[in-house]
Amino acid sequence: MINIAIDGPSGAGTSTIGKMIASKLGITYLDTGAMYRAVALYVVRRGVSPLDEKSVVPLLDEIEISYSPDKRILLNGEDVSSAIREHSVSKAASDVSKIPAVRLFLVAKQREIAAHNDVVLDGRDITSYVLPDAKFKFFLTADVEERARRRYQELKERGAQIDYDTVLADIKDRDFNDSHRAFAPLTKTDDSVLIDSTHMTADQVSEVITGYVLGNAQKR
Ligand code: C5P
Repeated sequence: MINIAIDGPSGAGTSTIGKMIASKLGITYLDTGAMYRAVALYVVRRGVSPLDEKSVVPLLDEIEISYSPDKRILLNGEDVSSAIREHSVSKAASDVSKIPAVRLFLVAKQREIAAHNDVVLDGRDITSYVLPDAKFKFFLTADVEERARRRYQELKERGAQIDYDTVLADIKDRDFNDSHRAFAPLTKTDDSVLIDSTHMTADQVSEVITGYVLGNAQKR
């Protein structure tokens, strides 16, 4: 199986790029952040704090994440593709993702999908923890202000009432959370190809990655 692992901080564009590459190469795309968001949404809806590990862990038994034929993410059968993009869910996802049991629950699912499909996976710990032996590994980043600008734009386009400074503060907060958690933190592995997209368009980044993959597909 060909597995392409892409990690990067919030707003680096890993999902946009992951989707573009998967479509160019004609393979599956798996947005692992969406899985953490779905768990966070369930926890919040149940009135449980995403930081309350003891209360969150038993809820995992009640959660089933699956995909519709048109690739929408389903939480216990309900299409939550839009609901998980709410700003409040981002923070809850970052909090819930610190809980080792939540990570193990989702990582098992991600590895299972990667074992049976040619797939592009994006997230925070794919290159370091989920698939350390993936054939292709990339670390995508950009300046924090640029990442905040992109996220702000995206939220505005979805009609969210939010200002840039809040988005920037939030991204900094999530960067800290994601790179300082004890279990499987965000980190660039030595064998990942680093791409700084601050001054690149999504098309340019996806060209670079696709070119690299096609150029090295026969090697190794
Ligand atoms: O990528 P996205 O912003 O949708 O991810 C939401 C949150 O889920 C991140 O802030 C991060 O805390 C968590 N996450 C993670 N590991 C992954 C993917 C996402 O911890 N592989």
